Amino acid sequence: MGSTTADFETRLFIDGKYVQGKGSPKVTCYNPTDGSVVSDNVHVASVQDVDDAVAAARAAFPGWASTAPLAKSKLLNKIADLIEEQAGLFARLESLCSGKPYKQTIVYEAPMAANIFRYYAGYTDKLEGESLPPDNGFLRIIQKVPIGVCAAINAFNGGIIMVSMKVAPALAAGNTIVIKGSEKSPLAVLAFGKLVEQAGFPPGTINLITGGPETGSLLASHMDIDKIAFTGSVGVGKKVAQAAAASNLKRVTLELGGKSPSIVFPDANLDVATQWCVQGIVGNSGQACIASSRVYVHRDIKEKFVDRMKQALDGTKGLMGKDVFAESTQLGPLVDRAHYERVSSFVESGKQEATIVTGGENPHGQGCWITPALFIDPKPDAKIYKEEIFGPVVVVSEFTDEAEVIKRANATEFGLSGAVFSQDINRAIRVAGQIHSGAVCINCCTMFDHNVAFGGMKQSGWGRELGKHGIMGYTEPKTLYVNMTY
Ligand code: NAD
Repeated sequence: MGSTTADFETRLFIDGKYVQGKGSPKVTCYNPTDGSVVSDNVHVASVQDVDDAVAAARAAFPGWASTAPLAKSKLLNKIADLIEEQAGLFARLESLCSGKPYKQTIVYEAPMAANIFRYYAGYTDKLEGESLPPDNGFLRIIQKVPIGVCAAINAFNGGIIMVSMKVAPALAAGNTIVIKGSEKSPLAVLAFGKLVEQAGFPPGTINLITGGPETGSLLASHMDIDKIAFTGSVGVGKKVAQAAAASNLKRVTLELGGKSPSIVFPDANLDVATQWCVQGIVGNSGQACIASSRVYVHRDIKEKFVDRMKQALDGTKGLMGKDVFAESTQLGPLVDRAHYERVSSFVESGKQEATIVTGGENPHGQGCWITPALFIDPKPDAKIYKEEIFGPVVVVSEFTDEAEVIKRANATEFGLSGAVFSQDINRAIRVAGQIHSGAVCINCCTMFDHNVAFGGMKQSGWGRELGKHGIMGYTEPKTLYVNMTY
């Protein structure tokens, strides 16, 4: 396989087999816990590789689209079983490449990925159309047909869940797919090819490639890709949409960034609010698009809440063991040196823009670790308050008035998620209804599940993934007119 460690796959998976990438130079992946090289030989998809992958997906499309629904379901269910069986492989590769605690993949990510496959396996025979009564002698039938060859570009943080979010609905709806993992965490994505082989998918239905921005833009501008599903930052999402429009107007869905607000009212259960707000910013070491990174707390309870947040965040330092494979390690480092430098610079500049209460240090003096940082009272235009940091940095502001806090919560380009903490359910529902985001959680935060729509308003995205809305994004309505008088 030509990697520094020979027991994982570093090649591309195209047309049902692993092949050498023709792109150069190869990608090097570093272990963010200590900076050691995991592999210096991750293959990069070149123009030719991308064309090969798209051609394979195109050739496979008619056969897959016309495969009986329940035969599709059987294969999708098989993949779900294999993900569960081989969760340890994915956990290991994610831990090596992105520093995710091993347990996180075993306990949460692999089961969630399997759920996504099972959910969409059940959808293959439920893509119902419509028919309208004959009118003027014509019967009209609207079918939900597959779009064709889809491509997906993934962010570094989603691992096997993000692969499932794209592959499962695309295939359940009858499409074929080329999927590019992030160059920062490519190994688990490439390992997925083994499962595709073992499950027995027809060659070309699922193709897995990797590479950086150049490979991504080859997909976005490709003339024979019919839809692109992108997950990543707002800036890159806009480039993908532009490239899609400038090439063949391929369909686009975008899952982009966030700066999600949580509003804590004075009648909230403080234990519940603290627990969720802490989990909402330390989960995946803050590298979550739905991270609860802006908290608004009512002035009457601010002091108490901030004390509790500090205590709870300080408590999480004990979960940041140096060994991400250890059972007790629940929080890992940031994904790589560049991201660590970026988050650290937000922490430094934040000290001039707000008051730091705790955190923002490297607990191990090596690698890309950073302790959860709590800032309070930011200036209104503070960078840490306005921009997505994508690390464990939470900013707490106080409020006094419901209408004012809703306005402040909505004063952002993002609209991915949000939360309201209150024991007055009428208030909670009223406020949730006024937060402009794809999801709002009540007395919880950062929720995300396989069977409900996920995605953003405003610049947090276009379209939705997961649930029924997710699979609809992989179909096109097609109308048949039948002349009943003939
Ligand atoms: P990123 O935008 O830097 O990269 C995402 C992907 O785009 C990578 O695979 C990268 O190789 C590719 N890419 C880079 N330049 C490209 C170009 N010009 N054309 C095509 N592809 C290109 O994001 P990241 O650092 O991997 O991930 C973090 C970002 O992703 C955050 O903003 C986060 O909020 C967002 N995210 C969103 C969701 C969601 O579902 N809404 C989920 C996870 C992450």
